[in-house]
Amino acid sequence: MRKPFVAGNWKMHGSKAMIASLINDLSRAWQQGDKVDVAVCPPFVYIDYVQRTLNNPAIKVGAQNMAAEPEYGAFTGEVSAPMLKEFDCRYVILGHSERRSLFGEDDDLIARKVEVALNARLTPILCVGETLEERDAGITEQVIERQLQAVIDRVGGDAFADIVVAYEPVWAIGTGKTASPEQAQAVHAFIRDKIRLLSAEAADDMIIQYGGSVKPGNAMELFSQPDIDGGLIGGASLVADDFLAICNAAA
Ligand code: PEP
Repeated sequence: MRKPFVAGNWKMHGSKAMIASLINDLSRAWQQGDKVDVAVCPPFVYIDYVQRTLNNPAIKVGAQNMAAEPEYGAFTGEVSAPMLKEFDCRYVILGHSERRSLFGEDDDLIARKVEVALNARLTPILCVGETLEERDAGITEQVIERQLQAVIDRVGGDAFADIVVAYEPVWAIGTGKTASPEQAQAVHAFIRDKIRLLSAEAADDMIIQYGGSVKPGNAMELFSQPDIDGGLIGGASLVADDFLAICNAAA
């Protein structure tokens, strides 16, 4: 039995005042940690503040990105895996579509980051997903396959037992358009089947989140699909009641 996992991707949002209120509300109200793993992923500068404000051990913290360099060095503006570990990060989002499209991150760079994260014992949340043009062209599976293959080539299939994959159709992120539960399930099953060819154990264990305009009103139906093991939540993770409702829907 896989334990569902819901993570909030705050993107470039937050202030100390907003975070104090959000984290206090989440800390007080989240009570289903035995059924669902939950994490919040603030911008780097707020990670320590979130850790110090959190008052609920069932809520973990992740980062939204990480350097591909394993240690430290002359890499202005970068943050390394050991730095995230020092601040008790459990997870790191890698390959989000905004990193791919706005910051030029390609499959190879993302695969290198996944390897660095695994070596540092951080759990990567590896985002994959197709654009609307790619879906319309009927190449969704080819795109997902290419994105996964780059990571497989670097870390192998067994490693997916320790990788969370987030299927995020680009056309559904922040747009209010959600993939239907059937559309999402089909891609999730494709991802699991691809890993199953390499490692049945990893395929059974791996968490595959859905991301893209998940809201309290659609979360339960999405999460009830057999291969959807929770969600990566953007906008709705900034509102305590909405994020809690989504986390509870995964229980
Ligand atoms: C995301 O950014 O990962 C995301 C899924 O955003 P939203 O929930 O706002 O669509």
